[in-house]
Amino acid sequence: MIRKNISVDEILNEFNNKSRLSDLISKYVKLTQRGNSFIGKCPFHNEKTPSFNVSDEKGLFHCFGCKVGGNAITFLTKYKNLSFKEAVNELSIFAGLQIYYNSTTEIKKKKNLFSILFETNNFFRDSLKKNQRAFKYINSRIKKNEVISNFEIGFCPADKELIDFLKEKGYDLDEIKKTDLMIKNNENKYFGRFRNRLIFPIFNFSEKVVGFGGRDINNNSKIKYINSQESEIFKKSEILFGLKQNNESIRQNKTIILVEGYMDVISMAENDVKFAVASLGTTLSKTQILKMWNYSNVPYICFDGDEAGRESSKRIAIKILEFLVPGKSFKFIKLPENYDPDSFFKKWNKKYFDELVNKSYYLSDLIWQIILESVEKPTPEFIALLDEKIKYYSSKILNKTVSEEYYRFFIKKKNDFVWNLKSRKKKNFVIKEKVQVFTNEKLIIVFFIFENKLIQNFLEEISCLKFKDQKLEKIKDSLFKKIFIEKIKDDQELIQQTKSQLFFYEEINLLYKTHLGGLNDEEKLIFFQQILTNLKLPDLQSEGEKLKKLIINTNDNDKQAELISKYNKILDEIKTIKNKELE
Ligand SMILES: [Zn+2]
Repeated sequence: MIRKNISVDEILNEFNNKSRLSDLISKYVKLTQRGNSFIGKCPFHNEKTPSFNVSDEKGLFHCFGCKVGGNAITFLTKYKNLSFKEAVNELSIFAGLQIYYNSTTEIKKKKNLFSILFETNNFFRDSLKKNQRAFKYINSRIKKNEVISNFEIGFCPADKELIDFLKEKGYDLDEIKKTDLMIKNNENKYFGRFRNRLIFPIFNFSEKVVGFGGRDINNNSKIKYINSQESEIFKKSEILFGLKQNNESIRQNKTIILVEGYMDVISMAENDVKFAVASLGTTLSKTQILKMWNYSNVPYICFDGDEAGRESSKRIAIKILEFLVPGKSFKFIKLPENYDPDSFFKKWNKKYFDELVNKSYYLSDLIWQIILESVEKPTPEFIALLDEKIKYYSSKILNKTVSEEYYRFFIKKKNDFVWNLKSRKKKNFVIKEKVQVFTNEKLIIVFFIFENKLIQNFLEEISCLKFKDQKLEKIKDSLFKKIFIEKIKDDQELIQQTKSQLFFYEEINLLYKTHLGGLNDEEKLIFFQQILTNLKLPDLQSEGEKLKKLIINTNDNDKQAELISKYNKILDEIKTIKNKELE
């Protein structure tokens, strides 16, 4: 039977003839009969008293709470986030309808492929239990058995076993060879593609096995992970690994996180973060983007915390632009340097991950970072380049409203950026003046330990400094002796020597990173001079105040003249310091 261009009405008609809507929906929602219809708790919004109605007579459902309603196809598209075509296929399987889009031979071929993979998946799963080494290996990686069974992790044994199993199920060798479970080698011999590998079944959006991922556990293959090859039924761009297994949690929490690999998805599930899916590869297709938006208005992307991961994130961010519409976006979670989700959860827990989720940044901010990277120097030429990039990236967004908003957003960012360039000196001054005396004193210690060379040029000035904090004063003295008397001229040596003695080495180390990290030698010098004057200023000011009082209270003219001259010198010095700061 070949039917093309079948209408929705025809499909629904056939469905209603052969089945009932309540039968379909009660697979997913608990329904109770009331009069001619059924009621239950709405699966599309949270409710305590049921207001979800199903009428077999009309073939329609309706929720009086959230006003969602429709027919059997609408239900499947909404509830299972299926495309129209997928929903029709699902419906036809459920009710045994014969709805064909393609020729019967094609359908038969596809059906055969699906069923071979389905059987093979069962076989792999059973084989894991039988293979001690594989089972031991998976248990060393995944502690929770429910996770292993939920993800249907399996093992592929030697070739003959799989072939025997499938033959027993009624498939002949030719059919088996058509799948990519067997591949031909140079000598024209077929061998098992996944043999001796741990198996992760891959499901399509209709939750059918369409392929496998295999991980080497012997370390005798150069390739750690392999995937099934793309086929008529297995298209990487139409897969989100983990969506089937995490569906419930993703749907309920309206949260979905894209990660790079299977193990990331599985590790996260094991740590109760059941929102992860993986695209097979580091690209993202339109289908995958739209699919993720079906579940959440703002899905997350959490790629590896390395250069490659960051580059992939950027590439995907640019790709997403094209599809943006009002109310839909993406956010990016930044993992600690050199961690992927799998290794992250070996070291940290969900609580820390939640913090990272809270700190995740918006797509618009990431694109701004990409734009900003083109600025090498804050000169007019590069500012002009900024303008061009802003136009380029905003115009990638096809939706006019969103595109205009992005343009405005970037222009504002640009203006802030240019303004910051101009006022950077001034800003630095304000920040540094706010730094408290004790922090200034600690910063001197930081310079002692980490910037030994620079300190050598200021030994005289440092010898005159007297710290207010007694502990710091002692440390400063001992460091001063090390440099001045023992003549230690090497940072590393000084770090080693002081590490054990300094009770606050961690704090000093942190101060170094936050205040000196990223500064060049010239900037470090300026910063150091500023700290010196910051430390000197309060002393000078209080000495000036003291002199002022003495001048007023002295009757002796000569003495007064002497005090005034001293006072003027201090004022000059204060003025010079302040002028220097204002430069
Ligand atoms: Zn509802």
